[in-house]
Parts: sequence; structure tokens; C-alpha cells
Amino acid sequence: MDVYAYITDFYQRTKTDKQIIGKTLFGRSMYALKCGEGRPVGIAQYAMHGREYITAKLAIEHFKRGVARGSVWLVPLVNPDGALLSEIGSSTAPETQREYLLSVNGKTDFSLWKANGRGVDLNVNFAARWGRGAKNVFHPSSENYVGEKPFSEPETRALKVFTETIRPDYTISFHTKGEEIYWRFFQPKFEQERDRALAEVISQATGYPLKEAQGSVGGYKDWCVETLKIPAFTLEVGKDEYAHPLGEDALKDIIEKNIDVLDVLSKAYQI
Ligand SMILES: [Zn+2]
Repeated sequence: MDVYAYITDFYQRTKTDKQIIGKTLFGRSMYALKCGEGRPVGIAQYAMHGREYITAKLAIEHFKRGVARGSVWLVPLVNPDGALLSEIGSSTAPETQREYLLSVNGKTDFSLWKANGRGVDLNVNFAARWGRGAKNVFHPSSENYVGEKPFSEPETRALKVFTETIRPDYTISFHTKGEEIYWRFFQPKFEQERDRALAEVISQATGYPLKEAQGSVGGYKDWCVETLKIPAFTLEVGKDEYAHPLGEDALKDIIEKNIDVLDVLSKAYQI
């Protein structure tokens, strides 16, 4: 079963507060499921980068684990079009798009694809110092293309509207790989201390160190920190020694180290 079918199946048979927050370029559903009740309210999002689809399976484990305090909305698969390009290949795109995608990718092997269905990297498409990143590119690509403007993509728009509707107390984003935690994005002093303290709680739970991003802008975490002024974290899960896309052999270790993250964050957040 491919990752989109797996998440769709889980969504359909799980009885909880849930919703489809949007549709992708290729018409696939972006699912959100809630676990727990009340505050603090978090949003956890996974697999924004195509080749990082292993994190969608971590989302399911997080849902089953639950949180002892407050609630978390899980968005297990933000970029199903990109995930299926990486997992299976261009046959998962509409026939009319395949030639274009092959020309963008430059090869028939899509396993390293990070972008969405038209070569926009969703995690540089948010309105947070957009287009000023060290690695940004300005043409469609398997990675790092910022898009025509902030929120040019249906997937980033859907996550923006959903986030503004939920008004979470914090957000957390799961990527692969490298076993590290990012939390900083030009916060003023008070927020810096608040956010660093929570990042250290995550570090305790996972064993991952805190890292400083060099020249990285336009991400979901960045937008949450700068515009919503809430703590927001990016976790790069999975050992660096694994090759992209990380597979089932990496999953056990990822789950072990990350299973308690949402629970400890919910408990540590000061309402
Ligand atoms: Zn990523």
C-alpha cells in the first residue's frame, strides 16, 4: 500500500474529530485528525517534503500515543503528490503533467523529489522573509524553488488557513533527516527564552541537539514564529547515515526517539 493510501485508510476508519483541510494540485486530500481535548492546542505536520514520507507513519504512531494534556491536530501528509512522486514515480502524476515533471527533474528517478506536483518546495513558500534563503532557487525544481509568490501553492494555502482557524499555541514540523531540532527565527528576547526552553524539553525527550539554521527562511515554522508569534519547531528525524528516502528500516528508531514529543510539549507549554 502506498503512503497516501495508507494515510487515507487510517483517516477513514479512525473515529475522532477530523477534517480534510484542502486538496493538492493533483486533487488529493490533505487530512487532519485531532487527538485530545482543550488547551494547549498544537498542530503537528508531517511529510511536507516528498521524499520524507516516512514521517507520515510517525504521525499515526503519535495519534495512537495521544497527549495527556490539551490537544494536538495532526496533519500526517501535507504533500501527498510529492510523496508519491518519490515513493513510486511520475506514473502517479496526471498524464498531462508527466513530461513537464520529467523535464524539471531531469531524470526518470524521482526518489529524491522534495517539491509538490509542480516543482515548488513547500517549505520555502511561506511568507517569512520569502525568497531570501541561501539555497533558494527561482525556477521549478525537485527542491528549493520558492514559487511565484508566498502561498502560491494550494498545499501551503490550506495549511495557512487551517492554522489561522485553529489558532494553535504551538506547532511542530517533522522532516528527515539528521536528528536535530530547529526553533529560532528572529524572535524578540522574551519569545526567544520561551521557545528555547520548550526546544530543550523536546531535546530531552528525543536526545536530539538544538541547531541554528543557516540562511533558511520561508518555512512553516518560520511563518508561525514570525507572524503568529508562537513557539514552532522543526525536527529532523532519522539518523543521517540513512539515505533518502528513509524507509521502514529507519522507522523503529524514529518512533522510539520521537514517540513522546507531542506529549512532553503539551505538558511543558505554559498556558
Ligand atoms: Zn524536509
